[in-house]
Amino acid sequence: MPGLEDLYREIILDHYKNPRNRGELPEPAISVEGHNPLCGDEITLYLDVADDVVRDVKVSGQGCSISQSSASMMTQAVIGRSVTEVRAVIRRFKSMMAIEEDGLEATDAEISLGDLEALQGVVKFPVRIKCATLSWNTLIQALDEAG
Ligand code: ZN
Repeated sequence: MPGLEDLYREIILDHYKNPRNRGELPEPAISVEGHNPLCGDEITLYLDVADDVVRDVKVSGQGCSISQSSASMMTQAVIGRSVTEVRAVIRRFKSMMAIEEDGLEATDAEISLGDLEALQGVVKFPVRIKCATLSWNTLIQALDEAG
């Protein structure tokens, strides 16, 4: 489809240059650090969960356009969702990245990834998959800590 790759590149660059939900959250929000030594990406993710809902997520750190834009798009995709829905979003995203470790559930197909679809080309570059999934793996760790 002509133009689609350009559109995706624009979306990724927009999130890289104007990251959404950037910053920190004060305690008692959970904070977890994530590193991707292959590329030098590093993020700190702040997670505020209450009543089983992800109230807020903020991300700080630095790295390549894929890692930082993926983190920005992720925050948009998960804030305001229940923890159960967020775990479904994570499964959907990982499945787009050809990581099937958790297995998809039937209802996952209903979850829209929105801007995150722009990252689907990354699957062709295995080294960059680690960039794209860094913030997601960090989010999983934070969710696990939230209990
Ligand atoms: Zn990277």
